[in-house]
Amino acid sequence: MFKDPENYVKGVLECNRLMLAKTITLIESSLLTHQEMARHIIDRLLPHTGKSIRLGITGVPGAGKSTFIESLGMMLTQQGLRVAVLAIDPSSTRSGGSILADKTRMEMLSVEKQAFIRPSPSGGTLGGVARKTRETMLVCEAAGFDVVIVETVGVGQSETAVKSMVDFFLVLQISGAGDELQGIKKGVLELADAVVVNKADGNNIQRAKLAKKQYETALHLVSPSSQNWSPPVKICSALKHTGIEEIWDMILEFKKKMITTGEFELVRREQSLEWMQFLVKEGLEQWFYKNQNVIKILPRVKKEVENGEIAPTHAASRLLFFLDKISRV
Ligand code: GDP
Repeated sequence: MFKDPENYVKGVLECNRLMLAKTITLIESSLLTHQEMARHIIDRLLPHTGKSIRLGITGVPGAGKSTFIESLGMMLTQQGLRVAVLAIDPSSTRSGGSILADKTRMEMLSVEKQAFIRPSPSGGTLGGVARKTRETMLVCEAAGFDVVIVETVGVGQSETAVKSMVDFFLVLQISGAGDELQGIKKGVLELADAVVVNKADGNNIQRAKLAKKQYETALHLVSPSSQNWSPPVKICSALKHTGIEEIWDMILEFKKKMITTGEFELVRREQSLEWMQFLVKEGLEQWFYKNQNVIKILPRVKKEVENGEIAPTHAASRLLFFLDKISRV
């Protein structure tokens, strides 16, 4: 009964949870027939996407991401909004998943009718995991979710991957035990549309305020990703639900500003183009390395480079010349 893609399309548009989950399973499947069907479904859903706010959240393990998402998510669902929570965690390939795998995370939000939580797809490269999450995001939008939150831990390039698919990128931090900024990479500050210092409660409030000042100073030193927005620093307590409303207001203000200046659509268009280019690059690479002739000559060329018998540039152009030959056959 579910073989017909139109059933999936209809089910997703009606926000039928079973069909939503089944569609995401198709997206995550490594079977070519499933992937083809998923592509067809996404194409059909595409005209119904784009209406939600896409929010990315990163932070080290223990920063309070799930507590924060639960607090924000519950507030939004109480306002009548529908919230989808997805994750990108490439390490789940190895560890069995550290994000959203734990059922005790987001206890309240996970049983909320207005919310949908999907753990990070496991298996494959960051590119593969990001593709699945990006497509799942589109499916959630077509299903009518107003806010899509994509969570990631600060490992490798996963933050860049999330930044490239969301409208607003929030970096969650905690104030350090000492007074120094705790392990924040400059690169991450460059991606941030806002830094939020969490756990500003109990006797930690002063430290959080101090950290806020330090992040403000640090942010002055990086060039903001938009001319129309200077990333603010906020403090909150996800546990005590303080400061959450203010953070949401800030996100809405950002959206308003971006829409007025035209940057909102511009960034989304650029993201789509970049994504296509990335997929072409990834596809080419896979295609190339799967080619039987490449598989045959590659070890020899590698050895020659290792032994210093030919220059890497020469070897690369020889291999690429080979690619040119394959494509002409
Ligand atoms: P994640 O690994 O980033 O998802 O972090 P969690 O949300 O699992 O939180 C890690 C720990 O910090 C848990 O024990 C939370 O209860 C605690 N925590 C999270 N947010 C706050 C907060 O605002 N204040 C305090 N005091 N603890 C918090």
